[in-house]
Amino acid sequence: MNETRLREQICLTAKSLYDRGLTHGSTGNISARCEDGWLLTPTGSNLGALDPARLSKLDDAGKHVGGDAPSKEQFLHLAMYQERSRSGAVIHLHSTHSVAVSLLEGVNVEDVLPPMTAYYVMRIGALPLIPYFPPGDLELADAVRARARRHHAVLLANHGPVVAGTDLAAASDAVEELEATAKLFLLLQGSRIRTLTPEQCAELRSRFSV
Ligand code: ZN
Repeated sequence: MNETRLREQICLTAKSLYDRGLTHGSTGNISARCEDGWLLTPTGSNLGALDPARLSKLDDAGKHVGGDAPSKEQFLHLAMYQERSRSGAVIHLHSTHSVAVSLLEGVNVEDVLPPMTAYYVMRIGALPLIPYFPPGDLELADAVRARARRHHAVLLANHGPVVAGTDLAAASDAVEELEATAKLFLLLQGSRIRTLTPEQCAELRSRFSV
């Protein structure tokens, strides 16, 4: 896809997420790889009103080379790209239900949400919880980097999800599946639930090559 089209697609994806309440105010950031680096939503931007021509452009080392100043959460994206050579897009949101789950005591920090549905298993799989650090803190990026090789999706404690995908559509599908599953998990707090069994999860992974 050429860069002009990719810029438009980032803005369309961002507006769609914003319009449906998956992020709010000037929170959240979206990036996608292009031929000579990657594009990222600028610092302080509202995802509902982006200008394709003003997206930040960074090189493969994370140096700002064009457009408006990049989001200060750029290091989350860079960590994913550097550890995951096949990832073409990264989405970070402060989506309400996922953030709520990131606040719960007693979750499994290696895999926060149980395997409740097939689509969750296929699009997210295991979801580690990254300890809390302030937004933009380099220690936060290091903590994400340490998990990124084995996990395309992580949940930042008291903050929100970071999800990579082969392209924007895949990253968007995955982060939306995560948010919907977080909502289900919260709806079911206090209920006895029947999750998928380890055998059912293994069967899904082999059937759909995840
Ligand atoms: Zn954030």
